Amino acid sequence: MPENALATALMESERAVGGDTARVVHPVPPEPNVSMFASRRVPAVIRPARADQVPGIVRAFAHEDTPPLHAVSTGRNWGLGSREAAGHDAVRVELDDLDSIRELDADHGWAVIEPGVTQRQLSRELQDTRRMLNVTASSGYSSVLGNALDRGVGLRRQRTEDLVGLEVVLPDGERIRVGWWPRRGVDTAVNPYGLGPSLLHLFTQSNYGIVTAGVIRLLPRPETQRVLRLGFEYDNVVAAVDELRRWQAQGLVHGVLKIYDTTSAASYGTSTAQGGYLAHISLGGTAGVVDALTDAVFELAEASKLFTGIARSDKEPPAADDVVARVVQHGYSGSVVHHEEMLRSAVGQHAPRVDDQGGGWLFFLPLVPFAGEHVAAALRILEKVSAETGIRAGATVNALDSDVIDLVVSLRFSRTDDESARAHAALDKLYELFTTAGYLPYRLDVDHGQWTDRLLDPGALALGRRLREAVDPHRVIAPGRYA
Ligand SMILES: Cc1cc2nc3c(=O)[nH]c(=O)nc-3n(C[C@H](O)[C@H](O)[C@H](O)COP(=O)(O)OP(=O)(O)OC[C@H]3O[C@@H](n4cnc5c(N)ncnc54)[C@H](O)[C@@H]3O)c2cc1C
Repeated sequence: MPENALATALMESERAVGGDTARVVHPVPPEPNVSMFASRRVPAVIRPARADQVPGIVRAFAHEDTPPLHAVSTGRNWGLGSREAAGHDAVRVELDDLDSIRELDADHGWAVIEPGVTQRQLSRELQDTRRMLNVTASSGYSSVLGNALDRGVGLRRQRTEDLVGLEVVLPDGERIRVGWWPRRGVDTAVNPYGLGPSLLHLFTQSNYGIVTAGVIRLLPRPETQRVLRLGFEYDNVVAAVDELRRWQAQGLVHGVLKIYDTTSAASYGTSTAQGGYLAHISLGGTAGVVDALTDAVFELAEASKLFTGIARSDKEPPAADDVVARVVQHGYSGSVVHHEEMLRSAVGQHAPRVDDQGGGWLFFLPLVPFAGEHVAAALRILEKVSAETGIRAGATVNALDSDVIDLVVSLRFSRTDDESARAHAALDKLYELFTTAGYLPYRLDVDHGQWTDRLLDPGALALGRRLREAVDPHRVIAPGRYA
């Protein structure tokens, strides 16, 4: 890469960020990541202070010989590559200083936020209102928009359902808005699809532009919120999952039904994990509805004879050392007050130190049909991979609806050369074995971007490439994990 082209682009960028100090870092020393993916060569990091500086930065890099740009929001994509780009030699644009909640309408249920707005910031803003944020189980210091752009999953639903509008700087520096945006002085109902072909998801899991803001829906806060925790034995996994599916299909479950196995609960910090599985069911509504649902679940659980016990959050709150149950219970209510405890249990560090000092962590994220036989088959694959590599995989079932499970497979390892190599070998095996079984990943890490080519319909892949050619002929944005 011509060094003088980079120097010129950086000078232009510095002009674009208005001479703010320490906004451009060059050169950048190699940086570790918690997953032990190889550190990418990063020629420079640019940290704009305001959204209106981003078009100027993009234009400064819109030349044939300048390196491409890779944008992150807070860069806490732990397990999938953290801040790293898919390849080497991309200039990173860090957007965490763009942290304004531009507008918030608790009556109509939306917020216009910038990429640096964290879960903690937005959920605090919503405290004591009739709305709540669909929070994930990751750190309170992770970005709401960054997670939605990677199609992450919250405790209430997949974040794609929260995302209704985006402000994007295109590779030629033009700033556009897609999806739904509020109009000054008039209330319009949220319509993320607009009219005609929907452009919103052209910019999720995408390298067609840099997002400088988005509109996020805020969920109605239930008047009463309760979580039921039901244990069941390993031997009953098929029948219990099928029974829980029936409950989800019949409207007994509000939000993502979560099932932790012992390995997974222990790796996220629950020292009291008893063996077997623990399902967390969120109930919400008026007090009468929640009581009725509680009675219904107790009756069904008793009739099924599949469960070893039920605890209800209003009578038996989780023990102080049951980190997972505390995070899940508060998370269903849109709160991240216990989230940093779980992060520390998982990787041994608080958010700013996870990548340089945290214990090794990888994610593999497939979707699995919601059926006992499929969950059991997926767990058998994990056993096989553990036996072959010596790396024990934890699995969390996140039922997105009564048909689809987001199976969160986590690999925890120590960051020695030997164990890292075995963890990465385990990850490669997971990709192969799960896709052979039909359990396809819905998010990829920085080392497995080529799986997009393997998994997509060739026609769709070719159309994506034609669109990219039209939107970014000069390759201003770096190749991403998905294209
Ligand atoms: C213990 C633990 C629990 C976790 N729980 C969850 C969970 O419940 N659900 C979940 O989904 N994840 C979870 N994660 C994974 C991860 O931490 C989160 O997904 C986190 O929100 C991602 O980091 P971020 O928000 O900083 O996004 P970023 O890292 O900033 O962004 C993610 C990706 O989106 C793209 N992107 C981001 N911003 C922009 C932009 N402005 N313009 C264009 N592209 C952009 C980039 O490709 C980037 O790599 C967990 C991790 C750990 C360690």
